Amino acid sequence: MDVLRRTLLGLARDARFKDALTTLPPTRAVVARFVPGESTREAVDVVAGLVAGGRLVSLDVLGEDTTDEALAERAVAAYVDLLEQLAARGLSTSAEVSVKLSAIGQALPDGERIARDHARRICRAARNAGTTVTLDMEDHTTTDSTLRVLRELRKDFPETGAVLQAYLRRTEADCRALAVEGSRVRLCKGAYDEPERVAFQGRLEVDRSYVRCLRVLMEGDGYPMVATHDPRLVAIAEALVRRTARPADSYEFQMLYGIRPDEQHRLTGEGHRVRVYVPYGQEWYGYLMRRLAERPANLGFFLRALASK
Ligand code: FAD
Repeated sequence: MDVLRRTLLGLARDARFKDALTTLPPTRAVVARFVPGESTREAVDVVAGLVAGGRLVSLDVLGEDTTDEALAERAVAAYVDLLEQLAARGLSTSAEVSVKLSAIGQALPDGERIARDHARRICRAARNAGTTVTLDMEDHTTTDSTLRVLRELRKDFPETGAVLQAYLRRTEADCRALAVEGSRVRLCKGAYDEPERVAFQGRLEVDRSYVRCLRVLMEGDGYPMVATHDPRLVAIAEALVRRTARPADSYEFQMLYGIRPDEQHRLTGEGHRVRVYVPYGQEWYGYLMRRLAERPANLGFFLRALASK
C-alpha cells in the first residue's frame, strides 16, 4: 500500500488532526462534494432528486467508533426518524439505509449485543417503512462480530444486506457462504488500513480478488450489489451479468454520492439498477479522510481549495 494512503488512513483516526482540519474554511467545500447535507431534511431532498433521476439510494447517518452509549442511542433515533421521513415523502421503496455497527454501540463493553439490539430496532423501522437495511463493514477486527450480528438479524429480517471487502483474504470464502437465496451482498474493495496478515496489499491483487468474489456472487443465488467506481470492474460485472443471464432486478451497481455521476447515468440508461450511497450528518471526518486516501485527485481538489483561500 502506498505511503500517502496509509498516512491519510492513519490521520482518519487522529483526534488532533481532526480538530485542526475541521476548522479550516475550505474543508467545507470539499466535504460538500461527498456529503450533501448535515440534516435529515437536506438528505431526504437529495434522495428525492436522485430518485427522480432514476436511481436508488442507500443513506448513511454519519458516525463511527462510538464509545458513548447516549451517542449510540442518538444514532438509532436518527435512523428511525430518517426512515419515517422517507416513508412520509413516498421515497422508501427507492431508498434504504446503511448502518455502521460501530456507530450504534459495537465498540462499547458488551457492544455486540448492544449493536445487535440497536440494529434490530432500525430493521423494524425499515420494515415498517417498507425498505431494508445494509450493515456496512468496517475494519477487520469487527468482521466476525458484524457477520454474527447479520446472521442473527436475518432470522427475523432476511432482507438485511451484508458488505464484504475484496481486500480481505477471507472474503472469497465469505462470498461462498453468503451467495444464497435471499441474501443481499455488497462487494467493495475495502476502505481501511489493514495488515498484510489479513489483507492483500497491492492494487492488482485486490482487483483480482474482487473479480473472483464477484464471480462467486454472480454465479450464486443471492442478490449481488456491485460497489465500485473502477471502470474495469464495472465492465467485468456487466460481462458477468450477460454470461449468467441475470435478470435486471436480480443485482445492482452501487457508487458513492459525488463520484462518477456520468457513469451512474450510463448504467441506468442501459437498464441496470444503480444505487447511490448518500452519507449525511456532522460526523463526516472519517468518511472524508477515506475518500481522500482513495484517490490522489480528491486530495488535489482539497489542496487547491486550501491554496485559493
Ligand atoms: P478505486 O481503486 O478507488 O478506483 C479505481 C478506479 O475507479 C480509478 O482508477 C478511477 O478510474 C475510478 N475512480 C475512482 N474514483 C473516481 C472518481 N472520484 N472520479 C472518477 N473516477 C474514479 N468500504 C468499506 O470498507 N466498507 C463499506 O461498507 C463500504 N461501503 C461502500 C458502499 C458503496 C456504495 C461504495 C461505492 C463503496 C463502499 N466502500 C466501503 C468503499 C470501498 O471499499 C472503496 O474504498 C471505494 O469504493 C473505492 O474503491 P473503488 O472500487 O471505487 O476503486
